[in-house]
Amino acid sequence: MQTDRRSTTELTPTEAEWQAIRSRDTFVDGQFFYGVLSTRIVCRPSCAARPARPENVVCHHTVEQARVAGFRPCLRCRPDRPETW
Ligand SMILES: [Zn+2]
Repeated sequence: MQTDRRSTTELTPTEAEWQAIRSRDTFVDGQFFYGVLSTRIVCRPSCAARPARPENVVCHHTVEQARVAGFRPCLRCRPDRPETW
């Protein structure tokens, strides 16, 4: 299981998830969200913000999980809002 500073809902991105983040793939929006440990902000995969370093990125399946883990929704991609944005 995960150790150190990560909670149980924080998952290391899979290769596919990381690729989706890197390419800002809108197809995976809503399937998972990624949080940046250095800023404590959670984003949609398609967020226009520059991706953080892989070691600082954790994935959550829901925004709610990210919130519980202490992340704030990104003001740019608004992961806390429905798909219409
Ligand atoms: Zn964002």
